[in-house]
Amino acid sequence: MSNSDFVLAVEDLTVSFDGFKAIDNLTLYVDRGELRVIIGPNGAGKTTLLDLICGRTKSSGGSIKFKNQEMTELAEHAIVRAGIGRKFQTPSIYENLSVWKNLEVSFPRGRGVFGALAFKCTDDVKARIEEVAAEIGLADQLSREAGLLSHGQKQWLEIGMLLMQDPELLMLDEPIAGMSVRERELTAELLARIGKNRAMIVIEHDMDFVKKIAHKVTVMHQGKILAEGPMDKVQADPRVIDVYLGH
Ligand code: ADP
Ligand code: MG
Repeated sequence: MSNSDFVLAVEDLTVSFDGFKAIDNLTLYVDRGELRVIIGPNGAGKTTLLDLICGRTKSSGGSIKFKNQEMTELAEHAIVRAGIGRKFQTPSIYENLSVWKNLEVSFPRGRGVFGALAFKCTDDVKARIEEVAAEIGLADQLSREAGLLSHGQKQWLEIGMLLMQDPELLMLDEPIAGMSVRERELTAELLARIGKNRAMIVIEHDMDFVKKIAHKVTVMHQGKILAEGPMDKVQADPRVIDVYLGH
């Protein structure tokens, strides 16, 4: 397999904050359609890695190729347009708008004032909203004010807002934090559903959840990759047990 077959190829990536290497010469490849989970102790650099991929943080060295195109020099909005969506830990939905409106405003449209003003809710957009609402399990909540949704439903809505752009790579940082057991089960099903059409990188701590969703697991420690592979193999790795799973 050549590097160009991967949806994401991160090579020799490094970022230093005041001389401290939060990401240290890291190399990681993600296949098209793969669901990769990243685990590791707090401070390992997991969130920083997503910050680098989505352009929020600029790297000190190395490369990030998405579908064979270099991303490290692009601005955040250009990376979104290239097809990378990223969900942060705290949901950022419009609480006073309906679920429908939240999805509608997330539909990609022409940039600039004219693009926004000329925007009409066409049949295409309506169809996409209904499709996404079904994918995230909120088809019967479309007219509801987003602020009235449960914590889990808010998280799903934010995933839906990202899906409106139909990203080829979707990155989620601790998506089930604060969710009930039932919401966690539904989220695992949701991720399997939306993963059919795209690659995903999910950062998560809950090992039962990781087992359910991961195709492959990457273990990070001190800005580096400590282990990588199928969940059962990674779980049995003494180095992983030592720095992470043993605690
Ligand atoms: P994780 O998500 O694995 O818990 P982070 O990526 O949030 O870890 O953090 C990795 C390390 O980098 C931590 O030591 C953190 O304090 C540091 N760090 C992250 N972002 C910055 C920043 N903008 N400036 C300085 N240090 C940072
Ligand atoms: Mg983090």
